[in-house]
Amino acid sequence: MTITADTAKPDEWTEYTCTGCGATYSALPHARSPHQCAPATPTNRNGHPCPPWCTIDHEEERGPGLVFSHHSDGATFIRTPAWDYVAAGRVQIGDNSGGPQVSVTSSSGVAGALWLKAHDAEKLAGAVEVLAAAAPDQIRELAAAIRKAAAQITDPEAWAFE
Ligand SMILES: [Zn+2]
Ligand SMILES: [Zn+2]
Repeated sequence: MTITADTAKPDEWTEYTCTGCGATYSALPHARSPHQCAPATPTNRNGHPCPPWCTIDHEEERGPGLVFSHHSDGATFIRTPAWDYVAAGRVQIGDNSGGPQVSVTSSSGVAGALWLKAHDAEKLAGAVEVLAAAAPDQIRELAAAIRKAAAQITDPEAWAFE
Protein backbone atom coordinates (compact mmCIF):
# COMPACT_ATOMS: atom_id res chain seq x y z
CA MET A 1 0.00 0.00 0.00
CA THR A 2 1.51 3.28 -1.07
CA ILE A 3 0.84 6.40 0.90
CA THR A 4 1.99 9.81 -0.18
CA ALA A 5 1.95 12.93 1.92
CA ASP A 6 1.44 16.28 0.26
CA THR A 7 2.47 18.16 3.32
CA ALA A 8 5.96 16.72 3.90
CA LYS A 9 8.98 18.14 2.15
CA PRO A 10 10.32 15.89 -0.62
CA ASP A 11 13.55 15.07 1.25
CA GLU A 12 12.11 14.75 4.72
CA TRP A 13 11.76 11.30 6.27
CA THR A 14 8.24 11.10 7.59
CA GLU A 15 6.39 8.75 9.86
CA TYR A 16 3.41 7.05 8.30
CA THR A 17 0.81 4.67 9.57
CA CYS A 18 -0.38 2.16 7.02
CA THR A 19 -4.15 2.25 6.70
CA GLY A 20 -4.04 -1.37 5.55
CA CYS A 21 -2.16 -3.19 8.30
CA GLY A 22 -1.68 -0.47 10.91
CA ALA A 23 2.12 -0.67 10.85
CA THR A 24 4.10 2.53 11.31
CA TYR A 25 7.12 3.16 9.13
CA SER A 26 9.41 5.95 7.99
CA ALA A 27 9.67 6.90 4.36
CA LEU A 28 10.50 9.76 2.09
CA PRO A 29 7.39 11.41 0.65
CA HIS A 30 6.63 10.21 -2.87
CA ALA A 31 8.63 7.02 -2.38
CA ARG A 32 7.13 4.52 -4.80
CA SER A 33 6.72 1.51 -2.56
CA PRO A 34 7.72 2.66 0.89
CA HIS A 35 6.01 -0.19 2.67
CA GLN A 36 4.78 -3.68 1.93
CA CYS A 37 2.02 -4.99 4.13
CA ALA A 38 2.98 -8.26 5.73
CA PRO A 39 0.52 -10.87 4.52
CA ALA A 40 -1.97 -11.66 7.26
CA THR A 41 -1.29 -15.07 8.77
CA PRO A 42 -4.38 -17.22 8.41
CA THR A 43 -5.70 -18.75 11.61
CA ASN A 44 -8.22 -21.33 12.62
CA ARG A 45 -11.44 -20.22 14.31
CA ASN A 46 -9.76 -20.16 17.70
CA GLY A 47 -7.25 -17.62 16.43
CA HIS A 48 -4.34 -20.06 16.37
CA PRO A 49 -2.09 -19.26 13.41
CA CYS A 50 -1.73 -21.76 10.60
CA PRO A 51 1.73 -23.13 9.88
CA PRO A 52 2.92 -21.99 6.44
CA TRP A 53 2.01 -25.34 4.89
CA CYS A 54 -1.57 -25.46 6.15
CA THR A 55 -4.08 -25.58 3.32
CA ILE A 56 -7.17 -26.30 5.42
CA ASP A 57 -10.16 -24.04 4.93
CA HIS A 58 -10.97 -23.47 8.60
CA GLU A 59 -14.32 -21.92 7.65
CA GLU A 60 -15.62 -24.84 5.60
CA GLU A 61 -18.41 -26.74 7.34
CA ARG A 62 -17.71 -30.48 7.11
CA GLY A 63 -20.99 -31.27 8.81
CA PRO A 64 -23.54 -29.40 10.93
CA GLY A 65 -21.42 -26.98 12.96
CA LEU A 66 -18.26 -28.97 12.26
CA VAL A 67 -15.17 -27.12 11.11
CA PHE A 68 -11.62 -28.42 11.30
CA SER A 69 -9.46 -26.66 13.88
CA HIS A 70 -6.39 -28.80 13.21
CA HIS A 71 -3.91 -27.83 10.52
CA SER A 72 -3.22 -30.00 7.49
CA ASP A 73 -1.93 -29.84 3.96
CA GLY A 74 -4.20 -32.56 2.71
CA ALA A 75 -3.91 -36.32 2.59
CA THR A 76 -3.28 -39.03 0.04
CA PHE A 77 -6.26 -41.40 -0.13
CA ILE A 78 -5.84 -45.03 -1.12
CA ARG A 79 -9.22 -46.42 -2.17
CA THR A 80 -10.23 -50.04 -2.46
CA PRO A 81 -12.65 -51.22 -5.14
CA ALA A 82 -15.31 -51.22 -2.37
CA TRP A 83 -14.46 -47.53 -1.83
CA ASP A 84 -12.96 -48.12 1.60
CA TYR A 85 -9.91 -45.98 2.19
CA VAL A 86 -6.68 -45.46 4.05
CA ALA A 87 -5.31 -41.93 4.03
CA ALA A 88 -2.13 -40.28 5.26
CA GLY A 89 -0.97 -36.68 5.47
CA ARG A 90 0.75 -34.02 7.54
CA VAL A 91 -1.19 -32.49 10.43
CA GLN A 92 -0.72 -30.27 13.45
CA ILE A 93 -2.88 -29.80 16.53
CA GLY A 94 -5.06 -26.70 16.22
CA ASP A 95 -3.43 -24.78 19.05
CA ASN A 96 0.01 -25.74 17.71
CA SER A 97 0.86 -27.29 21.07
CA GLY A 98 2.92 -29.96 19.33
CA GLY A 99 4.97 -30.10 16.19
CA PRO A 100 3.77 -31.43 12.88
CA GLN A 101 2.72 -35.07 12.90
CA VAL A 102 1.59 -37.66 10.40
CA SER A 103 -2.08 -38.56 10.38
CA VAL A 104 -3.23 -41.98 9.22
CA THR A 105 -6.96 -42.57 8.92
CA SER A 106 -9.10 -45.31 7.51
CA SER A 107 -12.73 -46.12 6.90
CA SER A 108 -12.41 -49.23 9.09
CA GLY A 109 -12.35 -49.87 12.80
CA VAL A 110 -12.38 -47.33 15.62
CA ALA A 111 -13.24 -43.84 14.42
CA GLY A 112 -10.56 -41.18 14.58
CA ALA A 113 -7.15 -40.52 13.17
CA LEU A 114 -3.87 -42.11 14.18
CA TRP A 115 -1.44 -39.25 14.78
CA LEU A 116 2.18 -40.24 14.73
CA LYS A 117 5.47 -38.59 15.41
CA ALA A 118 7.61 -38.58 12.30
CA HIS A 119 9.87 -41.43 13.41
CA ASP A 120 6.88 -43.65 14.24
CA ALA A 121 5.31 -42.76 10.91
CA GLU A 122 8.49 -43.90 9.16
CA LYS A 123 8.24 -47.24 10.97
CA LEU A 124 4.61 -47.64 9.99
CA ALA A 125 5.49 -46.84 6.38
CA GLY A 126 8.05 -49.66 6.48
CA ALA A 127 5.46 -52.09 7.84
CA VAL A 128 2.87 -51.08 5.25
CA GLU A 129 5.47 -51.50 2.53
CA VAL A 130 6.11 -55.09 3.62
CA LEU A 131 2.36 -55.77 3.45
CA ALA A 132 2.44 -55.04 -0.26
CA ALA A 133 3.97 -58.49 -0.73
CA ALA A 134 1.71 -60.26 1.79
CA ALA A 135 -1.46 -62.20 1.08
CA PRO A 136 -4.80 -60.67 2.14
CA ASP A 137 -5.27 -63.37 4.77
CA GLN A 138 -1.88 -62.53 6.24
CA ILE A 139 -2.83 -58.88 6.42
CA ARG A 140 -6.08 -59.79 8.21
CA GLU A 141 -4.06 -61.99 10.58
CA LEU A 142 -1.86 -59.03 11.38
CA ALA A 143 -4.90 -56.80 12.00
CA ALA A 144 -6.26 -59.42 14.39
CA ALA A 145 -2.91 -59.66 16.17
CA ILE A 146 -2.81 -55.88 16.62
CA ARG A 147 -6.37 -55.88 18.01
CA LYS A 148 -5.55 -58.79 20.32
CA ALA A 149 -2.45 -57.08 21.66
CA ALA A 150 -4.42 -53.88 22.24
CA ALA A 151 -7.22 -55.76 23.99
CA GLN A 152 -4.68 -57.27 26.39
CA ILE A 153 -3.79 -53.81 27.59
CA THR A 154 -6.36 -53.01 30.24
CA ASP A 155 -4.85 -49.92 31.82
CA PRO A 156 -7.43 -47.16 31.16
CA GLU A 157 -4.55 -44.69 30.85
CA ALA A 158 -3.34 -46.56 27.79
CA TRP A 159 -6.74 -46.10 26.19
CA ALA A 160 -7.18 -42.44 27.11
CA PHE A 161 -6.96 -39.76 24.47
CA GLU A 162 -3.89 -37.63 24.82
ZN1 LIG B 1 0.63 -2.15 5.63
ZN1 LIG C 1 -4.51 -24.07 9.51
